[in-house]
Amino acid sequence: AKDAGRNNFQFYAHEMNSRALDRLKTETGLRRALERGEFVVHYQPQMDVATGRVIGAEALLRWELPGQGMVFPADFIPIAEETGLIVPIGQWVLRHVCEQKRKWHDAGWFPDLRIAVNLSARQFKQQDIARAVSQVLQETGCRPEWLELEITESVVMESPEAAAETLHKLSTMGVHLSIDDFGTGYSSLSYLKRFPLDALKIDRSFVRDVTVDADDAAIVRAVIALAHSLKLSVIAEGVETADHLDFLRAQQCDAVQGYHLGRPMPVDKFEHFMRESK
Ligand code: C2E
Ligand code: CA
Ligand code: CA
Ligand code: CA
Repeated sequence: AKDAGRNNFQFYAHEMNSRALDRLKTETGLRRALERGEFVVHYQPQMDVATGRVIGAEALLRWELPGQGMVFPADFIPIAEETGLIVPIGQWVLRHVCEQKRKWHDAGWFPDLRIAVNLSARQFKQQDIARAVSQVLQETGCRPEWLELEITESVVMESPEAAAETLHKLSTMGVHLSIDDFGTGYSSLSYLKRFPLDALKIDRSFVRDVTVDADDAAIVRAVIALAHSLKLSVIAEGVETADHLDFLRAQQCDAVQGYHLGRPMPVDKFEHFMRESK
């Protein structure tokens, strides 16, 4: 009985250790990934609905783990958030994107393309995020209006006063600001008008069944109307079919992003896509 108890204990201890170990492995792996340059940025096109032109791209992070292939954000962003590593990782993404945009500019390519970068909660709440952004822009020679920062509702609603101050600084610099995953978090509509925002991104969970689900259709219509009455533009994500696009066009949605138009692509493939899309 004594032995069984001990084995039991060892079993549980082992379970816990292996979870902690997994986390540690990822944390160490993430540090190493930064040092060794294992992160890559993929670009997903965003299309203006009225003109059919590609006006932007969202930068989406990928981890090329040697021997294991591509790791997607869902499998490492939560740990990066937990450990605070998202701050240097996010900083890397921002710099990388600004350098890329500058390269395209110098080559005379895609002059009107704005790049959207996701800003995590930890990053947004950093003491001097506005100054950090401004410094990266200066050092890379990227113009503020070439950059859009995507922030989720929960990040700004957590402490609206502080968020408003940060957003005003960024907006004054000329950086575009959008609310990501709109409608999925806790949002207070009254704050929307107090934030200097440029766009709302309708979450793909509302878009998926928009042509068959009357409730989703009503929500999407309402969000578009709300955004427009606040002089914000609206972009829908998760646009996977021609039917999605037709619905959104009929509702005067400004822009779309999704597999129907193009998946997130490595930079060379994205450049090819852009040249073909003219
Ligand atoms: P998100 O910001 O909502 O990004 C959109 C996600 O939807 C991307 O997943 C994209 O690949 C996927 N997607 C795009 N079009 C479609 C579509 O038509 N159908 C479906 N089913 N999915 C579509 P991804 O790249 O796996 O990124 C997941 C999340 O990871 C992002 O969600 C974002 O929250 C986070 N993330 C990605 N890159 C970064 C980053 O650089 N920094 C931070 N802080 N978070 C990032
Ligand atoms: Ca996003
Ligand atoms: Ca989103
Ligand atoms: Ca999302």
